[in-house]
Amino acid sequence: MKRYLSIFYIALGLTSIMMLSGCADDGTDDTTVDVYETEDERGYYADIVVIGGGASGMTAAAQAVYDGATNVVVVEQAPFTGGIALQAFGGINAAESRYQLAEGEYGTVEEMIDWVMNPGVTHPEMVRVMVENSADAIHWLNDFMDAGFTELMGDWAHRPDVGPMSPDNAGVGTVLIDSLNHSLIDNDVPVLLNTTVNQILVDENGAVTAVVATRMGEEIIINTNAVILTAGPANLHQSILINFDVDKPGYGVVFTPDAEDTSWQLAYEAGAELTAVLRPLAATGSQINYSLDLFENGAVLVNQEGSIFVDVLDSTDKEIAFATHQQPEGAFFVVFNSDVRDEVSNFEEYQDAELLVTAETIEQLAELIEVDADTLSESIDFEGPFYAGSGTSMVVDASAGVRINENAEVMGRNGNVITGLYASGQAVGGIQGYGRHGGSSLMEVIVFGRIAGASATQFIDASFGHTPLTIPMSDQLIFAADLATEAESNQTIYLGSLTDLEDGVFTGYGEGFIDLIYVQVVVEGGIITEIEIMSHSETEMYMEMALEGIDGNPDIVSQILEAQNGDEVDVVSGATASSIGIVEAVKNALGLE
Ligand SMILES: Cc1cc2nc3c(=O)[nH]c(=O)nc-3n(C[C@H](O)[C@H](O)[C@H](O)COP(=O)(O)OP(=O)(O)OC[C@H]3O[C@@H](n4cnc5c(N)ncnc54)[C@H](O)[C@@H]3O)c2cc1C
Repeated sequence: MKRYLSIFYIALGLTSIMMLSGCADDGTDDTTVDVYETEDERGYYADIVVIGGGASGMTAAAQAVYDGATNVVVVEQAPFTGGIALQAFGGINAAESRYQLAEGEYGTVEEMIDWVMNPGVTHPEMVRVMVENSADAIHWLNDFMDAGFTELMGDWAHRPDVGPMSPDNAGVGTVLIDSLNHSLIDNDVPVLLNTTVNQILVDENGAVTAVVATRMGEEIIINTNAVILTAGPANLHQSILINFDVDKPGYGVVFTPDAEDTSWQLAYEAGAELTAVLRPLAATGSQINYSLDLFENGAVLVNQEGSIFVDVLDSTDKEIAFATHQQPEGAFFVVFNSDVRDEVSNFEEYQDAELLVTAETIEQLAELIEVDADTLSESIDFEGPFYAGSGTSMVVDASAGVRINENAEVMGRNGNVITGLYASGQAVGGIQGYGRHGGSSLMEVIVFGRIAGASATQFIDASFGHTPLTIPMSDQLIFAADLATEAESNQTIYLGSLTDLEDGVFTGYGEGFIDLIYVQVVVEGGIITEIEIMSHSETEMYMEMALEGIDGNPDIVSQILEAQNGDEVDVVSGATASSIGIVEAVKNALGLE
């Protein structure tokens, strides 16, 4: 399996911070929350409310409607769906999928359980549930979500075989989220974006009754009988590392959230027990994808002093990540030469975007990256010219959160299940351990997301019955307007003079929502005749909206082409940050900065 030393900074953040209201340790009393009737006219009503529109929340919602739920809503604080999965580019693990069985040489369920369990986890029975359901998860994603996970890598990981946004670097997460986005739209599941849940309300018996959220500055209440919590901890923040003693890895720790752990507080206040498997970091991060091949061919990882601080080839991802985190500011540089530059996917784009520095000598390189030249020269035993890209350590997964049982029901601090409360994904703790393998995160997120969706649906079925959808689907598209507002007020972008352009074929890039968008622009007879998207990492759904237009808002490429008559024109954004990225890329190609 190709290992990657990670990418991007996490941009998601929690906007509201709740202070703990005095909860008793056993979660049975003093959980002073308001109780609303389910038909409370002050709020919405949904049979099932999913908190968090990341991979797990969307999976849970999709599974719920697949199982017959008719009134499900997803509440997502960000102006877009996808969560962390938008940054996942590796694979998703599964054992004994039909694709593996067809190939014949892949690891079995039992072998995978051993692999996941090494070096140990809190809840072996939960690992068994996860692994035994992993193949079915891939089949379901392919058969019913149209995901296309068939390409096999290593013993267990699948990645999509469908054309990714970036041709040589299929983003497992973006493909997954695209398919789930489409499924939710097709199945009438409203997604309330820009909506942050602040509280899960329970009645005097501890059963879930509603969620309270803030939406565009206003408080809304969604009455419900079932809540699926998938909201991860705030930004997977580094305080996890501070709170947990990483020198003493252990399992099954029970903890209380601190003031910043907003999403954990939601569950804690409703009486849930929080549990964690201790682990430091899961991957190092930078803005560049570094594959392991780079290091096999001689690249080195140095710190801000120019010293090699970890033997990448002889270390696990976790050891590399932890070693990186120990460096000043968690920062590192990957240094390599032209012999291995072909191993860096998108090398030219990175260079164009000035994410890599180039130097003929070690001294020049040391000056450029501001490290000690003598130390750097001791670290490098290859010839120039040299290239270096920087990065910082990051947390990709917390392994901490609420405790759930095999049905994804949330366990209370009093030892009982909290009626109507389910959880999966980043919200859950204690399932996988210190040595979680790459690709197993999404496996857990998807498998337990499906279980949570199925369990909540069964609960509604048995106890209340399903009701028709009352939250308007038009709310689904709230994100379009919000995103444009966030990215550029009035959706107006100054394009510059488009007359008397030099003829030719030009390439350029602009910052999209997730990463750079590359375009090719053809100019003939002094005007633009063609704009082609060369590569991008945007979520396909948003890119489609930018390129096809929405709600009477014409697509962004036609707008640019039509805007050529004037010397200086304003271009109305196609309502997404992706549109703005395309416009900026065209400007960049034409030198219209
Ligand atoms: C760089 C990177 C690469 C990765 N690569 C892989 C890989 O190749 N394979 C793999 O298996 N895993 C990978 N992972 C891990 C994987 O992407 C995550 O485990 C997974 O996406 C988590 O999904 P989730 O839905 O559980 O959580 P999240 O993605 O965190 O989703 C939770 C959602 O809840 C929302 N939310 C939070 N609080 C609230 C609130 N109060 N109200 C409303 N909404 C709220 C958040 O905005 C977010 O959208 C990678 C992670 C990173 C960072």
